[in-house]
Amino acid sequence: MDIISRAEWGARPPESRSTVPWSQRTVFMGHYSAASATQTPRQIQDYHMRVKGWSDIGYNFLINSVTGLLYEGRGWNVLGAHCAGHNTEAIGVCIIGKDQAGKQDVSDAARRAFKWLYEEANDRKGKRLQLLGHRDRGNTSCPGDEIYAWLHAGLPIVGGSTPAPSKPPAGSKPAPGTPIAFPLPAGWYFGPASGPAYSVSGLHDRYFRSHTDRYWLQQWGTQLGRRGWSIGKGKTWLGDAGNDGIYGPEYRALAIAFQADQHLTQDGLIGKNTWDVAYHNPVR
Ligand SMILES: [Zn+2]
Repeated sequence: MDIISRAEWGARPPESRSTVPWSQRTVFMGHYSAASATQTPRQIQDYHMRVKGWSDIGYNFLINSVTGLLYEGRGWNVLGAHCAGHNTEAIGVCIIGKDQAGKQDVSDAARRAFKWLYEEANDRKGKRLQLLGHRDRGNTSCPGDEIYAWLHAGLPIVGGSTPAPSKPPAGSKPAPGTPIAFPLPAGWYFGPASGPAYSVSGLHDRYFRSHTDRYWLQQWGTQLGRRGWSIGKGKTWLGDAGNDGIYGPEYRALAIAFQADQHLTQDGLIGKNTWDVAYHNPVR
């Protein structure tokens, strides 16, 4: 993958710079600009230098959320200005664009570029860097909920021309297992604990049809496993916590991937439709 150099995008020279050795880099941090994807690196640089008074564009790298084009900011070894108090250890990468819930603002091309850059950083470091979003170290909503969840799910790439290895193979088979009816009341879903009462997370042992919410969410995870998805601790999906029945970024990433695979609305929430399809649609 090509990195568009500062010279190529017409960067102004930095007013000053200091370098950071790889030994001090431990974090790869995602940001977003929360503005139009038509914004250019030069416009962002002008804003950072003229309005904010910084010595250069704040980020180490930038990626356009639509085109996936990758731009050099300060580069690998220059101290950035993207997360107060954490610029030494963290390489800051800004996704240029918005991240609105359910809108798929960040394209697969942009996600691939981000992941490629992350692997490149790991290679240069010789060790895996910790993946964080800006909000993990600052009081901000950056980099948006979807990108934040994606970072913490380990950057799974779904859809597009390179299918994830966990996808079921081509050739259609009936849905495996015995269908289980959606256990929640109409209009409810499995979703984040921070959501409304009808967003059921598995965290609070709420009972539905004489089983806990947690039990039910595990049933859905198990069904995806029957459908050929690589599910569980150390696997492609739910790799950190396993199929523990507690809704978080990992279930969300899995739900989005499954919804994409089944051409459903990709909201990452497990409602009746996303539930039923797992038990009734053929495995492709
Ligand atoms: Zn940020």
